[in-house]
Amino acid sequence: MFGLIGHLTSLEHAQAVASELGYPEYADQGLDFWCSAPPQTVDRIKVTSITGQTIEGWYVESCFLPEMLANRRAKSAVRKILNAMAHAQKQGIDITALGGFSSIIFENFNLKENKQVRNVKLELERFTTGNTHTAYIICRQVELASAELGIDLSKAKVAVCGATGDIGSAVCRWLDARTDVDDLLLVARDRERLQTLQATLGRGKVMGMEEALSQADIVVWVASMPKGVEIDQTTLKKPCLLIDGGYPKNLGTKLQHPEIYALKGGIVEHSLDIDWKIMKIVEMEVPGRQLFACFAESMLLEFEKWYTNFSWGRNQITVEKMDKMGQWSAKHGFQPLLNYS
Ligand code: NDP
Repeated sequence: MFGLIGHLTSLEHAQAVASELGYPEYADQGLDFWCSAPPQTVDRIKVTSITGQTIEGWYVESCFLPEMLANRRAKSAVRKILNAMAHAQKQGIDITALGGFSSIIFENFNLKENKQVRNVKLELERFTTGNTHTAYIICRQVELASAELGIDLSKAKVAVCGATGDIGSAVCRWLDARTDVDDLLLVARDRERLQTLQATLGRGKVMGMEEALSQADIVVWVASMPKGVEIDQTTLKKPCLLIDGGYPKNLGTKLQHPEIYALKGGIVEHSLDIDWKIMKIVEMEVPGRQLFACFAESMLLEFEKWYTNFSWGRNQITVEKMDKMGQWSAKHGFQPLLNYS
């Protein structure tokens, strides 16, 4: 059995969907209430592969909200993730993906040192961040969308915002190894880490966000921002492909230019309908088939009976692991999303 630990994008979003999930008593509650709410198993899921194999799993809502980080409620954020992991393990789930901020909190607060959660000793091999699949799907979106839009990768500059992160660094490594992309523009706040990444890649330019945005033909957003940034679209190159892999979205601006193409990053579409309701709540256009690539990773590990934390730790994702995950993804019927807005 596979599991997905997820969270909603804001307090407002959580209040709006609480009734829909069958928890009307949560609908008019503030942040304090969500800080004390326990994890909930809210959706039973059935997925069939194009090979004919069917698997079952659970969605676990951690009740974490990004406002907890913005409002110095870090202790609550940590408790949400540990409790959700213990809850998933107690349900007997073999492999669970830590969606959105769950894996970021796990890493940032070094939660591998907190394995005892009341009477549950966390077995970390039952969890995966899902970041290998996410990074792979974003790279394929870069390749497929640029070909479709007539952006020649061998002449293209790709800005990676969040380049030193787990997903961002994997995207840089894969684009370097598997494509002939002209240049990588490396963006994040910590310059030392950017310079280390540049040295390991042996290429790329370290840049501020504004400078990178004005030079990039393709922008990959994978910064861990609790709230999206507003950008001035007049400063972007035309044409420009923007792939927003953040959850919540990194890009706050609604773009309106015929030559600016925005894609939801790290999202896959399954070839068959999935029996669940949770993707309607995170506003997927085709909720029966579209999902976060990190969630799909735990499904793929379940299909392959590969019960181990395939993606774990920071900046450990190799190009070979991305290729392997990509083969499983295609084998079971998942495709990168290519609908522009
Ligand atoms: P990490 O925490 O590992 O990396 C985040 C990166 O963003 C770092 O390079 C960090 O560097 C940078 N960053 C953070 N804040 C800013 C800022 N204000 N400006 C510029 N750079 C910034 O995160 P992950 O790689 O694990 O995840 C990245 C994003 O992908 C998150 O939004 C996450 O929710 C989303 N995600 C999406 C999935 C999907 O299936 N689509 C699955 C999993 C995650 P520095 O601190 O130096 O700025």
